[in-house]
Order: sequence, then structure tokens, then C-alpha cells
Amino acid sequence: MTVSDPMGIDPAMLDRLAEVAVRVGLNLQPGQDLVLTAPVAALPLVRRVAVAAYRAGAGLVTPILADEEVALARYRNAGDDSFDRAPGWLYRGMAEAYASNAARMAIVGDNPMLLAEQDPAKVARAGKANALAYKPALEKISNFDINWSIVAYPGAAWARQVFPGLPEDEAVARLAQAIFAASRLDGNDPVAAWEAHNAALKARSRWLNDQRFAALHFTGPGTDLRVGLADGHEWHGGASTAKNGISCNPNIPTEEVFTTPHAQRVDGRVRASKPLAHQGSLIEGIEVRFEAGRIVEAKADRGEAVLLKLLDSDEGARRLGEVALVPHRSPISDTGVLFFNTLFDENAACHIALGQCYSKCFLNGANLSPEQIAAQGGNSSLIHVDWMIGGPDTDIDGIRADGARVAVFRKGAWAQSV
Ligand code: ZN
Ligand code: ZN
Repeated sequence: MTVSDPMGIDPAMLDRLAEVAVRVGLNLQPGQDLVLTAPVAALPLVRRVAVAAYRAGAGLVTPILADEEVALARYRNAGDDSFDRAPGWLYRGMAEAYASNAARMAIVGDNPMLLAEQDPAKVARAGKANALAYKPALEKISNFDINWSIVAYPGAAWARQVFPGLPEDEAVARLAQAIFAASRLDGNDPVAAWEAHNAALKARSRWLNDQRFAALHFTGPGTDLRVGLADGHEWHGGASTAKNGISCNPNIPTEEVFTTPHAQRVDGRVRASKPLAHQGSLIEGIEVRFEAGRIVEAKADRGEAVLLKLLDSDEGARRLGEVALVPHRSPISDTGVLFFNTLFDENAACHIALGQCYSKCFLNGANLSPEQIAAQGGNSSLIHVDWMIGGPDTDIDGIRADGARVAVFRKGAWAQSV
């Protein structure tokens, strides 16, 4: 088997995925450079994305590849100092590329449990060093300076985690089918299907923006949570326009409409509805309690040490930077697959994110300074970690400034048609 001929994956569907990634995900413009990160396992898709990108007029496609065995070699062999290191030079170079209007694509597809057996303290240190070094590049992404997108490739190690009982070929085939269905590639014209989906998400965002809710009240199993929204928050969903003027779909797939919570106005209890795969570990059964925006109690049935380390990353790690609404029924949710990957699992359920907020989720966000964003309730942190809180029993009320309540979700579905 060669990397250009993966077993169990329909090559025509991979071509479609590359086409959707470049045309819908990035909307790559003629003359634009592309910085592409991917696991080596995803080379068959990397190569197809390069073809689609150059056909779309790309200036230069630069792939940066990561390898699972190389990542593990560090944990098994490196000296202790290694875990405070990060390639700042590489991330500064990426930031420079984005400052020159290069687009960014990330292909995900590694084993989500890669680091599960490694020392959580080392995993956390390495993660923190990396986040610190990555900040100049990440800021250009979170401020939406340029068009960017994340897509997924059905890597074999990932497929084995998702379908542990199946032979590898079959597991890869099943994961590939689920990724293709979730990415809306199954119809005759995936690009047109994405246009219709983007229009529907836009209509939801408009409705929520018109409501001007002061807070959302989530109730469900183990959850009674009031999430205050940031002053001047703005809902987004589907395609949106980066500061370089290019409209793109940052996530393929995407089902969410999302905005910025107020960092000081979140109160109550919330229980995760799905496990969270974080930096190679699985955190299951998360339950936290918020007071005045801050997590004051946290526990998990499994991976609690990883969760607590994550919450201690910095001051902003205990506060919310995102709240997102996703109906329980969607092509992703309907696959019935737990992907152990945030890109998919977060789009199968309502979720919240600890850490950094998105400046684009404010009215006139492009022109607000970091100080203004903070004053309006926007959180800042080195981390941005999404976890799932929605399910078939999730109810959500929107609460207006005068206390009036409007049904937003009932039994995991939108309560109003728009
Ligand atoms: Zn989200
Ligand atoms: Zn998020």
C-alpha cells in the first residue's frame, strides 16, 4: 500500500473533500499562499488539497507535517528540559506568513489518545510551552485576520480508537464514511449543499442577534447553568468574512452558531454530555460549578488530573470564551459516532469553551482593542478548549435584559423556526 492509495477510502470522495476544503473551507483566492499543517498519515489528502489549491490559483502551498511516532519519541526519550520547549521560530514564521495574507488550513486525523499513557504533568507543560510560543500565530487566527479552515482525514490510528472492535481497513472505511457524511459530501453538488447550509446558519445567527439576549439558561441532566452574554456580543455561524475580506468556512464540518459569553456572568452547574479528547487524553464525566464567571469546583470521572491542570493553565482558563448552540439532530450527530475529536464532537452538541474568546463575536469586533473587548466581558487565555454540554434533553431559554424569557431550545432542538 502506498500513501497515495489508502485502503478503505474512496479516492473520489477524497477529491471531493479536497475540493470542498479549498473552495468552501478556505475560499482560496488566486495568488494567495497556503500554510497547511497535517499529520503524515493524511498525506493522501494533503496532496489532493495541493492540487485543488494550485488549480484555484494558489501562489505557494507549504505543508508542515507532524508524526505520531516522533511525538511519542519525545515522551519516551527526551530529558526533562524538553517539555518546556516549543518551536517559537516556526510559529513566528507562520504569523509572518499570515501577516502577508497567506491562508491557513489544518488537517486533523491523528490518534486522539496518543498521549494517554504519558505523564500528565509533562503533557501539560509541553502544551503550555506550545500555547505560549504559538500565541503570535494563534492571535491572527482568533482575530480572524485571514481565511482559515480545519478539515479531517480518516487516519488509521484515529479510526482504531473510534471503532475498536473492527479490523483496521473496516474501521478506516467506517470513519471515512462518517467524515464524508458529516462534511456534507454525499450529494451530487457538495459546494451547492454548503451554500444552502451556510444560508440556514446565517438565518439562525440573525434571529439570535435580533433577540439581543442578556443571558442563556441551559437545563438538562446534571445541568442548570446561566450563561451571561458579553455586552455587544454578536452571533456567528457558517461562512464568515475574515479581515482580509475573504468569506470562508473555518470548520468543515460545522453545525454551530456561537458567540461570546461574559467572563464574569456565568453561574451554576454544568455536566459534560460527551467525553473530551484533550491533547491525547480522554476526560470523561466533567462536572463543574461556576460562580461569577469562574469555575470554583471541577471534577471528572476519568482524566480529572488533566482537567485540573488545564484549568490552572492561566487565570482565563477557568472562564468561558465561547458558547455555541447545535441541535441534537444533524448529519454529524446522526452518524451516531463519538469521534474523540472536537471538530466533530463539538458540532454534534451545544458546547462551551474555556479560555480565549473570538473578537469577531462582538459587534464591530474588528475595531475593538483587547482592552475594550475585556471591558465588554470578553475572556482572554492561552487556551481555547471546547466541551460538549448539549443532548436530546437540553432546554435553553433566552433571557432578555428585562428578565423576559424566550424558548430557544426544547428537547435538544430549535424551539422557533426562522
Ligand atoms: Zn464552537
Ligand atoms: Zn470553540
